[in-house]
Amino acid sequence: MTTPDGWVTRELHGLRYRCLEDCGFCCTFTAEANDHELLRLRSKFPKLPVTRSEGMTLLGLQGGCGACTLLKERKCTAYEERPAHCRYFPFHVYFGRRTEVYVNRCCRGVEVAPGGDLAAKFKAQVQDLASPFRLRREQEKADKVRATFERNARAAGVWGDVDVEIARLLERGASWFDPATWPATPTGADDEAGSPGEAWQVALAPFGLDDAVARPFHLAADLQWLGFQGGAAGVTAQHLGENGTLVPFQELDRFDEWPELPEKVREGLFSVIARLATRDLLAGSIYHMVDDTAYKIAVRDAAEIRFADMAAALALRADILHRLGIPWDQVPAEAERFYDSAFLDHPTIGGWL
Ligand code: SF4
Ligand code: SF4
Repeated sequence: MTTPDGWVTRELHGLRYRCLEDCGFCCTFTAEANDHELLRLRSKFPKLPVTRSEGMTLLGLQGGCGACTLLKERKCTAYEERPAHCRYFPFHVYFGRRTEVYVNRCCRGVEVAPGGDLAAKFKAQVQDLASPFRLRREQEKADKVRATFERNARAAGVWGDVDVEIARLLERGASWFDPATWPATPTGADDEAGSPGEAWQVALAPFGLDDAVARPFHLAADLQWLGFQGGAAGVTAQHLGENGTLVPFQELDRFDEWPELPEKVREGLFSVIARLATRDLLAGSIYHMVDDTAYKIAVRDAAEIRFADMAAALALRADILHRLGIPWDQVPAEAERFYDSAFLDHPTIGGWL
């Protein structure tokens, strides 16, 4: 089994995957369709609602934030005509300094399995469908954007070796979940950026968004779709319905500071960070942070801020999950599932299939 030359397929190994009956969680993510796919869908569903954003056609969601309008009782009613975007899931192809294949851990059909190999599934679901022309074009586009970024960063004196910075930050190990031990915050455009307090606010921010689609969701082990809404004063856990209803089922009080996590949980969450750090997407998101501040902070500082943000996002999710009844020994793996879509969604200097 081969992928195009030089692709990094590390994540395809050590996992097994089978799409689960009556799940449908990935149909709550907005699916993209190209013109040809839309034509095919509209020939069967003439009133199919779509929106357009940045040149893409997006399939509408029920109630604005529920599942795709083509999902009925957690089954795709357009299964044979579904767009490639839906067929690719849970696989993602990222074009960064190299082309990498990721497996989205939010999908509960994906499980750790020593000796497992998803190469054949990836070939059938992605490689055999994606046009080689598009793959080449996306990689070339990403290469150009990154070259421009590097030129600008060097000219502004904020360039740095991102791999060296990531390796340095990984050396801090599980102390990322003990913010009192963090060294002084980096100097940058914002003196607070990268501090435990600021990282915690960044982690909480998506939970307080008015736009439900942009708030965090989680697929629970019993395949319930969970939504969360709130902030430092408290978070409401909700059941998300296919039709976009959000029904509160538990109030969780006070998230105004970092939780004290048992040592084993801190170590487990750090292994999640260590795994995420193998993705070139992390470098791309660090570059994006530099670009986003108009080159006011250096790669070194952006890397530190990004690690602080990842630790806070995972600690917050670990706290929420434990308060929802997940035993501590299962919390790191569950938090990894809860966080993966947010990590994959982070703005980046890089491209996606
Ligand atoms: S999230 Fe995974 S298991 Fe659930 S429907 Fe999507 S691919 Fe299947
Ligand atoms: S087209 Fe089908 S598979 Fe794709 S998001 Fe809609 S319901 Fe899900």
